[in-house]
Amino acid sequence: MPAMVDLKGLDREELKRLVEELGEPSYRAEQIMRWIYRHDASSVDAMTNLSKGLRERLARVATIGRLAAVSGEQSVDGTRKFLFRLADGAAVEAVLIPDGKRRTACISSQAGCGIGCPFCATGLDGLVRNLKAGEIVEQVLALQRLTGERVSHVVFMGMGEPFANYGEVLKAAGLLSDPNGVGIGARRITISTSGVVPAIRRFAREGVQYGLAISLHAASDPVRDVLVPLNRKYPIDQLLDACREYVERTNRRVTFEYVMIRGVNDGPEQAARLVALLKGMLCHVNLIPLNPVAGTGYQRSTPEAVRRFARIVRDGGIEVTVRRERGADIQAACGQLRRSRAR
Ligand code: SF4
Repeated sequence: MPAMVDLKGLDREELKRLVEELGEPSYRAEQIMRWIYRHDASSVDAMTNLSKGLRERLARVATIGRLAAVSGEQSVDGTRKFLFRLADGAAVEAVLIPDGKRRTACISSQAGCGIGCPFCATGLDGLVRNLKAGEIVEQVLALQRLTGERVSHVVFMGMGEPFANYGEVLKAAGLLSDPNGVGIGARRITISTSGVVPAIRRFAREGVQYGLAISLHAASDPVRDVLVPLNRKYPIDQLLDACREYVERTNRRVTFEYVMIRGVNDGPEQAARLVALLKGMLCHVNLIPLNPVAGTGYQRSTPEAVRRFARIVRDGGIEVTVRRERGADIQAACGQLRRSRAR
């Protein structure tokens, strides 16, 4: 018997092909799309505006995948984190962060991560595998289902390097932003990368409205070579050239994420270098006090060091904010998601 198709993860064209194979007009694909992504239907049978005959034929060849949440935790600040088990046993985490009316889903693009940033819990475990688009979109749907909240923003800042899984991540972003998909505006979706330069250039040419965030974390190559090992392949000057191309082509600003680590990248000379690097670019710097991961030896910068760093960057004419800590008590903060708790 041929394997069943998982409808979740299929895009408009794939759904059209499927309904045509079932002898139906292609517009049925739009209806099915709304059921899967908008209404989060749990079965083909729930698609009540399809004829009974089509539902029966569809149910013989297709299912609608859901991720099983194996644990959930809630922070004192309302942030909620869930660990999901994938069909093959791999596990990923996703986080829902409330902020006023905003509900931001921080989702994973890979199980584990192959970049190996030494301060990050996910990186310590290495890469398990890329996620499929359906598994990525389902994290958002599952967060909505489990919390009863409607997600308003999505950041690809959970486990994994999104641009190491480019095709599935862009497909997932398309399904999330499609009006007949989950329906989250493209400008409310941000994709974060540790600096895969060819993918940034490709992304700049896609003609899409998603935001771009760069995990910069250092302003000189010797420091970044250690903190973000991908820098040895794509050093800072190449990375920033690609970012400038993105700004030129999209007219959107780039967000530079900078995790503040005591005595490593938080000195005034790194701040001054950062100003020199980013001068004139349409961008924004987000300073993130490190959430230390046991066993890594890295410590969080002191509040004074963060303030001094921010002042130098601001005085240099670069827009800068210090990220408010969210979900730290449940290890839901940046760099703290990890596969090993699933074991
Ligand atoms: S910080 Fe991001 S890119 Fe680096 S190891 Fe962790 S998940 Fe991967």
